[in-house]
Amino acid sequence: MSPTLEAVLGGSSVPLQQSPDTQPPDFGPDADPIEVIRWALEAHPDLTMPSAFNLNGVVLLDLAVQAGYTGDVLFVDTGYHFPETLSTRDALADRYPQLNFVTLNAGATPEDGQTDPALYASDPDACCAVRKVAPLQRHLKALRPSALLNARSREQTADRAEIPYVEDGGARRKINPLAYWTRERLEAYAAEHALPVNPLYFDGFLSVGCWPCTRAVRPGEDARAGRWAGKGKTECGLWAGDNKL
Ligand code: SF4
Repeated sequence: MSPTLEAVLGGSSVPLQQSPDTQPPDFGPDADPIEVIRWALEAHPDLTMPSAFNLNGVVLLDLAVQAGYTGDVLFVDTGYHFPETLSTRDALADRYPQLNFVTLNAGATPEDGQTDPALYASDPDACCAVRKVAPLQRHLKALRPSALLNARSREQTADRAEIPYVEDGGARRKINPLAYWTRERLEAYAAEHALPVNPLYFDGFLSVGCWPCTRAVRPGEDARAGRWAGKGKTECGLWAGDNKL
């Protein structure tokens, strides 16, 4: 039987961080994401950034560097990533030497014993909990950052349609500088700045996760429709659910 997230983390829940008492300015929908990030860096000097290096994430990295971010970029190796995703990570690390790229669960493989190799098919929530959420939660539990920078945008899915720039609740504050950016705007920015976008994006993989759980998006579907398609699952658990970051 595969281990549960609680078992892997060594407890029934992740301790909450201190509630931040710094209130953000009233950023409007047209706010410059760089200004949002600059505010976040001042309010949360311990800010850190998880990333899966999707289009949103690559754009956010570039904007964060412009805003003065020089911290960690946390990537979780589940053992099931496409080679293109790992190459994108490496290209970004070459491009931004001022950032510290950290791969958690490095060296993971489907046969490493963390889960049954085919758990993704029978219980993808459990597979994500052990292979993706737990490594990041363990790291954050030790680091205890007060806020996380992340690349979600309202347009990605109905579940994300209301996310604000600054999101309280859960274990720590989330800063979402791209909340109002559309896919068209992200693509235009990436092209204008010649960013190293995951090549799978141009084959219709608008959101790239692990290879067993990702397919190309079909016309008319939202950007994350290719993730866990047909499995009744839309989030890995990092940003929603009982164990969200
Ligand atoms: S996306 Fe799929 S393979 Fe990757 S951790 Fe989640 S269930 Fe497992």
